[in-house]
Amino acid sequence: MENVFELNHPLITHKLAILRDKHTGTKEFRELIGEISQVLIYEALKDAELDEVEIETPIQSMKTGKLNEDKYAFVPILRAGMGMLDGVISVIPNAKVAHIGMYRNEETFEPVNYFFKVPKDIEKREVIIIDPMLATGGSACDAIELLKSKGVTKIKVLCIISAPEGLEKVYKEHPDVKVYTAHIDEYLNPNRYIVPGLGDAGDRIYGTK
Ligand code: URA
Repeated sequence: MENVFELNHPLITHKLAILRDKHTGTKEFRELIGEISQVLIYEALKDAELDEVEIETPIQSMKTGKLNEDKYAFVPILRAGMGMLDGVISVIPNAKVAHIGMYRNEETFEPVNYFFKVPKDIEKREVIIIDPMLATGGSACDAIELLKSKGVTKIKVLCIISAPEGLEKVYKEHPDVKVYTAHIDEYLNPNRYIVPGLGDAGDRIYGTK
């Protein structure tokens, strides 16, 4: 799938090994989610267009490029997506933040939207959805549809771990949306958890289990 970009780096494999380990505690888990999110946002903005600026180094003046941070908005999908926000915001501190609240109906596994709050000029921005686990792809597709209904045309998705099933769904329904993931895992189990995965990302970020 040409819309999917997987980080391929031994240090990311190393960080993921610690992240996935069930013995890793909440503090370290959160820190690692933040660190990997920073790498993902660097990767996702490889195609960013820069404004030409002239600056002066201590040696001489030079023409170079700067990012217009006002062109971006992050959209964490509540609640696990919030775990990635500090990491991405530390790289682009002036981006706006929108929130989409979704939970999984435990019987149908369908995502249910309960909160949607976005900046007024959202349609003018490149919008980057953040959610650590792209499992069925249901939440990501719902979030993409909501954003498109508000006029957003440039959307990317950042996730730490993804399942092939979810990536296929996003590609089928929204081939224009690029997905950046630290790792593509094997499959979804009958409870729609990613295998081997890392368990419930929200519970591990917030220590709720
Ligand atoms: N959400 C999670 O937190 N983990 C999974 O494995 C799938 C969805």
